[in-house]
Amino acid sequence: MPPIKLAIVGVGKIARDQHLPSIEGNQDFKLVAAASRNGTVDGIPNFTTMKAMFEAIPDIDAVSLCMPPQFRYDAAYEALIAGKHVFLEKPPGATLSEVASLAQLATERGVSLFASWHSRYAAAVEAAKSFLASATLKSVHIVWKEDVRHWHPNQNWIWQAGGLGVFDPGINALSILTHIMPTPVFIRSAALEFPENRQAPIAADLKMTSATGTPVHAEFDWRQTGKQTWDIVAETTGGQMVLVDGGSKLLIAGKPVPVPKESEYAALYSRFASLVHEKRSDVDIAPLRHVADAFMLGQRIVVEAFND
Ligand code: NAP
Repeated sequence: MPPIKLAIVGVGKIARDQHLPSIEGNQDFKLVAAASRNGTVDGIPNFTTMKAMFEAIPDIDAVSLCMPPQFRYDAAYEALIAGKHVFLEKPPGATLSEVASLAQLATERGVSLFASWHSRYAAAVEAAKSFLASATLKSVHIVWKEDVRHWHPNQNWIWQAGGLGVFDPGINALSILTHIMPTPVFIRSAALEFPENRQAPIAADLKMTSATGTPVHAEFDWRQTGKQTWDIVAETTGGQMVLVDGGSKLLIAGKPVPVPKESEYAALYSRFASLVHEKRSDVDIAPLRHVADAFMLGQRIVVEAFND
């Protein structure tokens, strides 16, 4: 099968850190162009708009959209209308409605839409899912605490309305949770801490339960310096399950579980290639729905100003 001719759109941190090396390492794709207002990729034609790129290279098959979520819908709409397969970075959009509308448009156009959740492809996530399917769950505790100054220096969009604030990393935990839980979960109450000078929360505390009554507690915080924490701990009748470092390592009853070595983004591009070849979409909005629920139910607490 000939490689999928792919263009990358929104050349910034995640495009450079993860997308470009993963595309390079995947024979199912050939990177043929980039579109970005300022960023460029060496060795391929670069354009400042998608429109100019599609006009110059009409046989592009697919695009990966790596800009921040508030600006992704218009690009996704334009690409789908042009008949391209679309890979959406996470979160897939700024609202639930726009993602639903994109999914419908992809179906109408007969192209693949992939709402990617990179943390679901972390090495130990499938093993955690299998374990939870075989044990009776008593409780789940998520602790996702990191230093925003280190991970998102001067990223203004992340603090603006629709930028999600601490839910930008927190949604990664929710993407794992919604994948590994044997039953659906719902937010019962939430407390969101907003710096007095920002439109997005710096911390969030979510109290959830599963459909069968299992308590799930999630703590997200962007003020953590020193050791960073991205852990999910489940107490079960089969012992304690600890999913550590963003889903990359797993301990069950204190014993490490062997996991595969493939990187999250290598696995994402394998998945995207399968979707394109099979003419299917994968658009799960469950993690974004929980964030929307947290904003809908959450108590708003104003805390001290945050400056980079
Ligand atoms: P970023 O570097 O701040 O932004 C990516 C690029 O998007 C920018 O370089 C910019 O390129 C373009 N862009 C910015 N504002 C735009 C606008 N108003 N309209 C159109 N394009 C715009 O952000 P990032 O860290 O790569 O994150 C992008 C997405 O990837 C987010 O949804 C994030 O959650 C996700 N993600 C990030 C990471 C990470 O470690 N950073 C990890 C996983 C997922 P031009 O100025 O050249 O147009």
